[in-house]
Amino acid sequence: MMDDSQILLTPGPLTTSLRTKQAMLKDWGSWDADFNALTATVCRQLLDIIHGQDDYVVVPLQGSGTFSVEAAIATVVPRQGHLLVLDNGAYCKRMAKLATMMGRRVSVLTQPENRPVSPEQLEQTLMQDDSITHVGLIHCETGTGVVNPLQQVSDICQRLGRRLIVDAMSSFAALPIDCRELVFDALISASGKCLEGVPGMGFVFIRQAILESCRDNSYSLVLDLYDQHVYMTRTGQWRFTPPTHVVAALAEALVQFEQEGGQPARLERYTQNFQCLLSAMTQMGLSTYLKPEDLSPIIVTFNSPEDDRFDFKVFYNKVKAQGFILYPGKLTEVETFRVGCIGAISSVQMQKAVNAVGSALKEMGVLHG
Ligand SMILES: *Cc1c(COP(=O)(O)O)cnc(C)c1O
Repeated sequence: MMDDSQILLTPGPLTTSLRTKQAMLKDWGSWDADFNALTATVCRQLLDIIHGQDDYVVVPLQGSGTFSVEAAIATVVPRQGHLLVLDNGAYCKRMAKLATMMGRRVSVLTQPENRPVSPEQLEQTLMQDDSITHVGLIHCETGTGVVNPLQQVSDICQRLGRRLIVDAMSSFAALPIDCRELVFDALISASGKCLEGVPGMGFVFIRQAILESCRDNSYSLVLDLYDQHVYMTRTGQWRFTPPTHVVAALAEALVQFEQEGGQPARLERYTQNFQCLLSAMTQMGLSTYLKPEDLSPIIVTFNSPEDDRFDFKVFYNKVKAQGFILYPGKLTEVETFRVGCIGAISSVQMQKAVNAVGSALKEMGVLHG
């Protein structure tokens, strides 16, 4: 059920359902058994989504998604480790930067921004450099929307004996991720992405077999997922004040996720949003930054119209006045803007959004007819 607040066509925070918002109307004691049970239920459900009950644990963490990316690297990559980041966009660069800042040895395999990363080049790089212990991959690079070949990268890492860390922030719960087929040491996502919760907590799946070796890796107290996990297992509680309302909202969002039909149903709805968006925008003469075969139903980057009358700020405000929030581009060399397909919306809202885009462009004199 929708309410009348603005529709966010952004990659998080995103539009949440009324039920999810209403789940935040109650206060919880962080030490209380009821809240501990809520945390445990959320963790169990998260593990079920990747079929990870046997081989993985999930460790929730306070903060936005990046806090969990930083925590995952700090916890899982040993201090003498060497991380290779596959870089085809802004979130890849962020992973490399935070790993460098904490003092890990980092190499970057620079790839074109408008293509998925190349498994062949990864393989070559790993064969040429034995010192690389870990590979960092962004599953869906939200900067452009391109989806990277997770299964192939996992297979190469397995074959060449390297460990894999996946930022699946904007893909988890929408694109298939099944740890019966994939092997990774850590995979990261957050409450406010495709699970359609509110922002405020991340979570990291860590392979059980490596857990003990993660003790004392972290340079940071608050980002130490080993410590968070050990404490939570022992007490049922978070180490420091938990984002109680965010956890309650996520628990309610997970109920709706199950009711909808889980990951396949969510992907289906996002795909309908995506198709609605793409066909309407193409009809208006707008083109996508990525080639059609590289587009994803998560977020779409559009080239800004080549017209002097187009100004993103003006465009943004005109669309906002009609109730829809767009997202600026994240590319340096080309003028773009982005439209998210994720969140508690259907193609009905998406159709209204593209109508709003159309009338904004007409008002600006960019679109005729
Ligand atoms: C959203 C997102 C993040 C986390 O960003 P925050 O602003 O810290 O929540 C990290 N990686 C990807 C790919 C994302 O889409």
